[in-house]
Amino acid sequence: MPRMTKQQKIEARAKRMNMLRKALAIVTKGVCPACGTKLYRNNSMSGWWQCGHVGAEGFQREAGPHCHFSFFYDPTPEEHSELLAEKREPEATVQAYRVTTKIPYHNYVKTFTDLGEMQAWVYHGTGVTLPTTPEAAFLGKHKTPRNEGEVIVEAVRQ
Ligand SMILES: [Zn+2]
Repeated sequence: MPRMTKQQKIEARAKRMNMLRKALAIVTKGVCPACGTKLYRNNSMSGWWQCGHVGAEGFQREAGPHCHFSFFYDPTPEEHSELLAEKREPEATVQAYRVTTKIPYHNYVKTFTDLGEMQAWVYHGTGVTLPTTPEAAFLGKHKTPRNEGEVIVEAVRQ
């Protein structure tokens, strides 16, 4: 496999965190998004969750119409605590994040609702690596690597 660039790594990580975020939301609800049946862990593989209606007749956790829904929620301990920290933030009041870049060759104001997308855009345009969580770590001013300017991240709330 070819070595990934730093930006590719950031994007791959943002993608994975997004996937885990969606899976955690389903795990938290505890019901199959396809048919509404309770979800169960399949302990034959770590992090494997299945709808109670998965399986052939007689082998389902709950008897009923067949359903195929199964997914994985298998974060590392670090990823898991990062996701839990996100959940504690007052997400409902944050509408978006506004990024202002004040660098001689890069002066933009751009608004993001997706943190991973914001992180990738900032890194690509300015070389600044923004942490994605906690909020306190990415809000505020960030100096560029060679000190020629700064990136300012503000929360847009209502
Ligand atoms: Zn189902």
